[in-house]
Amino acid sequence: MISALALVTLLGIQKEAPQTSLMKRVVDFLSSDEMAGRNTPSPELDQCADYIAKTFKEQNLKPGNGDSYFQITNWRTTETKVRNVIAILPGNDPVLKNEYVYLTAHYDHLGARKVEDGKDGIYNGANDNASGTAGVLGAAMTLAQEKPKRTIVFMTFYGEEKGLVGSQFYVKNPIFPLKQTSAVINIEQIGRTDDTEGPRVNAISMTGFELSDLGKVVNDAGAKSKVGTTGHPTNSFAYFGASDNFPFAVAGVPAHTVCTAYEFPDYHKVSDTPDKIDYKNMTSVVDVISRAVLSVANRKDRIQWNPDEKRAARFIEAAKKLQSQ
Ligand SMILES: [Zn+2]
Repeated sequence: MISALALVTLLGIQKEAPQTSLMKRVVDFLSSDEMAGRNTPSPELDQCADYIAKTFKEQNLKPGNGDSYFQITNWRTTETKVRNVIAILPGNDPVLKNEYVYLTAHYDHLGARKVEDGKDGIYNGANDNASGTAGVLGAAMTLAQEKPKRTIVFMTFYGEEKGLVGSQFYVKNPIFPLKQTSAVINIEQIGRTDDTEGPRVNAISMTGFELSDLGKVVNDAGAKSKVGTTGHPTNSFAYFGASDNFPFAVAGVPAHTVCTAYEFPDYHKVSDTPDKIDYKNMTSVVDVISRAVLSVANRKDRIQWNPDEKRAARFIEAAKKLQSQ
């Protein structure tokens, strides 16, 4: 009998891309019942933070906070510690290496609720947002092979579901100057193509699409693989303040969230489980995001807020203030 490997070759079965395997592994770990829904704070969320840091290290990315992958603080007024997980790929241009582009996602979720024996009370949060965390790590694997001009910062936040707490903490206590940051691409919910408005395959949605020139950069990055990036008549702006990009935007840094579906059937339900993730689509989406990050890192100019868009006025004002500091 021939070996399994020989059989695979003989039948011409395509081997899974290493990014896909990595992302599956990450989603499975984070959204397993053992992680109990990754509530902030919880021992399980701590285990996830360690797991993310270990995975950054495996990709040979440098720790983002001195010799540590963690930015540690207390949870609200308690003694319990919570952690943002941060890694960097240093830039290679003598000048531009002091500028930054961020790729981020929140790794927490809703935890679990008390239920009768035998009933499922765990919010696995496979799409929200194990998928986005896996996307950051999958992109990290791809980008680690590159020599970008600007420094790329990879970051995963605690406490998003409790009101963007981890990202707000970071923006108040930035490790890399916000003033020298070109853009933030935050990833949410990239594992589900069953949008409540119909299937979203080979498509990226961006919040605040019209507010800066980042949308065009991400759309261009998908041209080769025919993955288009668009806004949405209502959701694009409505969701702009609903994730971890927002504290950066309020501080003046062009920052947007990319997702596949704004709304999907199992949103914030115990049925948001890993078996429903579409890894084929997720891999092409993360490919485009990686290319977009590299493009932002290497292009001549920084990303700018759109001066022709009225709704960008408050962010343009914030950007002016930031640059005058
Ligand atoms: Zn959520």
